[in-house]
Amino acid sequence: MKKPRYFGTNGIRGIVNDLITPAFITKMGYAIGSFVSKGLVVVGADARTSSPFIKNAIISSLLASGLEVIDVGTLPTPALQFAVTYFHAKLGVMVTASHNPPEFNGIKIVDSDGIEIGISKQLEIEELYEKNIKQLVTWDNISSVTRYDILPFYIKQIVNHVNQDLIKQANLTVVVDAGNAVGGLVTPYLLKELGVRVITLNAHLDGSFPGRGSEPLPEKLTLMSHAIQVSNAHFGVAHDGDADRAIFGDNSGMVYYGDRSIALFEKWILSSSSQKLFVTPVSSSKVVEDIAEEFGGKIIWTPVGCINVSRTMLETSAIIGGEENGGLFYAPHQSVRDGPMAAALMAEILSETKEQLKVLLDQLPNYFQLKDKVPCGNNHKTTVMNYIKENTPPANDVITIDGIKLIYDDGWILIRPSGTEPIFRIFVEATTAEKAKELMSHGKNLLISAIKSCSN
Ligand code: MG
Repeated sequence: MKKPRYFGTNGIRGIVNDLITPAFITKMGYAIGSFVSKGLVVVGADARTSSPFIKNAIISSLLASGLEVIDVGTLPTPALQFAVTYFHAKLGVMVTASHNPPEFNGIKIVDSDGIEIGISKQLEIEELYEKNIKQLVTWDNISSVTRYDILPFYIKQIVNHVNQDLIKQANLTVVVDAGNAVGGLVTPYLLKELGVRVITLNAHLDGSFPGRGSEPLPEKLTLMSHAIQVSNAHFGVAHDGDADRAIFGDNSGMVYYGDRSIALFEKWILSSSSQKLFVTPVSSSKVVEDIAEEFGGKIIWTPVGCINVSRTMLETSAIIGGEENGGLFYAPHQSVRDGPMAAALMAEILSETKEQLKVLLDQLPNYFQLKDKVPCGNNHKTTVMNYIKENTPPANDVITIDGIKLIYDDGWILIRPSGTEPIFRIFVEATTAEKAKELMSHGKNLLISAIKSCSN
C-alpha cells in the first residue's frame, strides 16, 4: 500500500521554516481547500511560537478556496476535535506538533466525526498538493472567518460526563503541570468547576516550553512529584504540548507511565459497565488483559497509533480505550485521546473509591518491561518482517496486526518497524526482570538473524 509522503502517525510535522514554511502550509492549505470543496472548516492551534503564522496561512488558503472558517483560537487538540463535531464541520485543522520540541510544528487534520483522517484521505490531500491544485474562487464567493471561544462548552461537556456532586464532596487537591502548553487553558478550570482545589505548575503559555519540556516523561516531572508531596495533594496530572495525553503522579511522589493509569481507567469502567471492551494497541502491557479477564471483558488489539484506537472504538461501540503514552479515549465524551477528560475521570475514581492513587495502582498486576531498537534500512523492513512471519518460532499465540507479537506463558515480545526511523523497535514484557532480559535477547537474536538472512 502506498505510504503518505508528508503525513506521519499524527499528521504532518517538521522543523519550522525548514519543512514547515508559509509557502508549504499555504500550498497544503489549497490542497485541503480543494479536498473539502465547500462548507465549514474549524481551525485551531497550540501555543508554539510558530503557530500563529501557520494558522493564518491555513486560514488564508481555506478562505481563498471559498470555505467558511471558524477560528477557535489557542486550545488543546481534543477541544478542537470537540469543536468539529459541535459545529458539524466538514473538517478540522489543528496546528500543533504535540509533544515534539519547540522547533517543530505541523498540522493534524480532523474528519467530520472528530477523529483524525485516515491514510486514504491523507493520500488524496497529498495528491492534490503534488498536482498543485487550487480551488480559487471569485471575490463574491469568498466566505467569512468567525472567532469562537469553544472552551466553556468543551469544559461543560466533560463536567457532564463525571459525577460532579461526588467529586465536590471529596474535597480533592490536585496539582496540574500544564508544561507551559494549552492544557493550562482547560484542566485547572475544569477541575475548579468540579470543586477541586487546584495548584498549577508551568501554567503560563510559553512556546519554548521552559518548565519541563513538551513531553510529560515521568522522569522529567520531578517538580510535579515534589509539589504533590508538599501540598499533600491527592494526585498530580501533566499534559503534553497539545494536551491529548495525561500522565499521573501520586502523593508518595511516584509518577507513573501511562500503562498503569490506563489500566486503572479500564478497571474502573469494566467493573461498573455492561460494556466490556477495551481497545488498545498491541504494544500495551499485559496488565490490561489481566483486568479484562478479572471483569469478564475483552481486549481489542489495534495497530499502534491513536487513529486506529479511535476508529476501532467506533466500529466495536467500545466505550474505553487507552495507550501506554497516557492517551485515554472515553467514548461517552468523544472517542479520541483527551487529557482533560482523563484528569476529570481520575478525580471521579478517587472520589468514589476514597482510596489513595498509590493504593489503587499498587493493586494492579506488575510486569517488567524493556525496550530496544535494531538498525535496518527502510527498504528492507518489509522483507525482514515477512521473513520473520514466515519463520515464526514457537509461541503460545502470535499477533501480526502491527509487526509481530509473540506471546508466551510468562511474557511477550513485540517486533515492529518504526514508521519514521530506519530501525526496528523491540518491546518485551515479562513476569520477572530476569525473564524480560531473556526475552529481549531472544527477540534481538531473532531480528538480527532475519536481517542477515534478508541481506544475503
Ligand atoms: Mg499530543
